[in-house]
Amino acid sequence: MAYFIGAHVSAGGGVENAPKNAAAIGATAFALFTKNQRQWVAKPLAEEEILRFKQLCATHGYTAAQILPHDSYLINLGNPDDEALEKSRQAFYDEMKRCELLGLDRLNFHPGSHLRVISEEASLDRIAESINLALERTKGVTAVIENTAGQGSNLGYRFEQLRYLIDRVEDKSRVGVCIDTCHAFAAGYDLRSEELCAETFAEFDRVVGYEYLRGMHLNDAMKPRGSRVDRHQPLGDGLIGIPCFRYILSNPQFENIPLILETPDESRWPEEIARLKGFAEQNARSGE
Ligand SMILES: [Zn+2]
Ligand SMILES: [Zn+2]
Repeated sequence: MAYFIGAHVSAGGGVENAPKNAAAIGATAFALFTKNQRQWVAKPLAEEEILRFKQLCATHGYTAAQILPHDSYLINLGNPDDEALEKSRQAFYDEMKRCELLGLDRLNFHPGSHLRVISEEASLDRIAESINLALERTKGVTAVIENTAGQGSNLGYRFEQLRYLIDRVEDKSRVGVCIDTCHAFAAGYDLRSEELCAETFAEFDRVVGYEYLRGMHLNDAMKPRGSRVDRHQPLGDGLIGIPCFRYILSNPQFENIPLILETPDESRWPEEIARLKGFAEQNARSGE
């Protein structure tokens, strides 16, 4: 058991650069885009590219449990328009397939948006069906639903919505969730002290369940609790504050999953990672 701590690093110039970039900042976990996240189509992964990625992950000691790929921001699996939905479903399948080819076991994605055209429930039903369709056509990759800040018409801002989706996914062994601290706070969940974190995560466990937790995004928040505005801040520079991150690094429920920084100032990642590792070490010592 260990805490896997890292950041969403660049895969510019090829996916094999992600493990290199992660190792360079002292990370024991990383997130990446397996294709350009602002384009619908990418050229298929070449055999050599896949091999190099796997080799570099092995060289730097990254197993699949330490890697949290993220899908394209263009994809909306809850799109009310049938044609647009089909395009998103195809792109999502392609992303799942890329993860499968790279030997990765999970794909993190934002559930989707109703675009104020259909009800939240109708859109959530489309998302659940989208997940089922992708799982049918792939193997070994878990669909990891990220909670959102609820900005605009984005769904997934309540733990109940994550549960609603899980309930409708046929293969429960390949659905999971990723909790982003900034998104949870912006959506209204309080994380401003270790006690409040304990309450919020007890609610998470009651509604969703830790058994579905496949990753975390560790971000401080610029905008107030409940603002539903998604603006990340470096750890300790926002309105959530350090106790939340200390709580996560002292709770065994967060071990053995990727804990990923998506904080805005990349130059501070080595320092933020070292600080989080320090929290985990302090806790290990105090528990002896
Ligand atoms: Zn996130
Ligand atoms: Zn965000």
